[in-house]
Amino acid sequence: MERTEKRRDIRSMGIKELEAAAQELGEPKFRGKQMHEWIWKHSATSFEAMTNLSNAFRQKLQEHYEFRPLTIDAQQQSTDGTVKCRFKLFDGNVVEGVLIPSTERAEDRLSDRMTACLSSQVGCSLNCSFCATGFMDLKRNLEPAEIYDQVVMLNRISQQVHGSPLTNIVFMGMGEPLLNYRNVLGAIERITAPDGLNISAKRITVSTAGIAKMIRRLGDDEVRFNLALSLHHTHDEARSKIMPINESNSLDALVDALNYFYDKTGGRITFEYILFDGLNESKEDAERLVQLCRRVPAARVNIIEYNPIDMARFQKSEQQRRERFVDYLHQHRVTAKVRRSRGKDIDAACGQLANK
Ligand code: SF4
Repeated sequence: MERTEKRRDIRSMGIKELEAAAQELGEPKFRGKQMHEWIWKHSATSFEAMTNLSNAFRQKLQEHYEFRPLTIDAQQQSTDGTVKCRFKLFDGNVVEGVLIPSTERAEDRLSDRMTACLSSQVGCSLNCSFCATGFMDLKRNLEPAEIYDQVVMLNRISQQVHGSPLTNIVFMGMGEPLLNYRNVLGAIERITAPDGLNISAKRITVSTAGIAKMIRRLGDDEVRFNLALSLHHTHDEARSKIMPINESNSLDALVDALNYFYDKTGGRITFEYILFDGLNESKEDAERLVQLCRRVPAARVNIIEYNPIDMARFQKSEQQRRERFVDYLHQHRVTAKVRRSRGKDIDAACGQLANK
């Protein structure tokens, strides 16, 4: 008889549920643990892959449950080695993820970094005026497995294209990660677990536009990953104009929340600061940024080059002004790095993701 009811996504189930499911289908409890290992340790995306389960059991699983893996819908490679992927979700929605190769100086030596930039939502509700994703409506949150799949696929591409695995993960793609809190933390739990992908939480950075309540919640949950705040302006009124979320999450409220986060986790805090022509690059802006950094323990700054998008009126800061701004930060002992934009020719750079 053909089944008509919807099959459940097997990857939405925890180990206890998998054990119970195995028993319901007449198998011993430990089969649940085996399934869990196939799903998260070996990144299986089909029941056929679970070769230590009997054919009959796999057949029964297939009748009751399904996988909803991501597939690569399109892939583009930049002249600088950046790779942008458009991922298709099981329901036809698409999101983008980016692989960014770079060389960093760390502890007096140069090391190759392979960073995966992940999406956490289909679209975004926060409408930052300089961001291509902000011009899309929010359609839905990504499931933990859909976030996890981006890591698996970008890691595979990293090995194929650049011959080395991912070293870092940033949640700076489409969506506001802290508005998909449970699923983002669920994905990170699987990405960092020894019986998952076993990637250190210290190599993961979650970037938020600034939701004070959720930053405090990260502190309460004592997360081990790093936090970045997309700051982009140090004056409340001006920041609210480019990032409407600031209207309900003032800079003072964010500073308090970041201090709370630091007290609870000791985690690294980075301010992301895109320099815009004529908007946030003056000496007064630099002074306010220094003052703000002094209010947040161990805060550092990433200066990001802006990538103009068709729908917004902003332009990037000129090199001379950018250098002056960064020099001012250095003179005042603020740790600041300039992040050169990568993948501009394929619209994969920061703020450009919009499923073109
Ligand atoms: S910058 Fe981030 S939070 Fe703002 S609209 Fe873009 S994706 Fe959303």
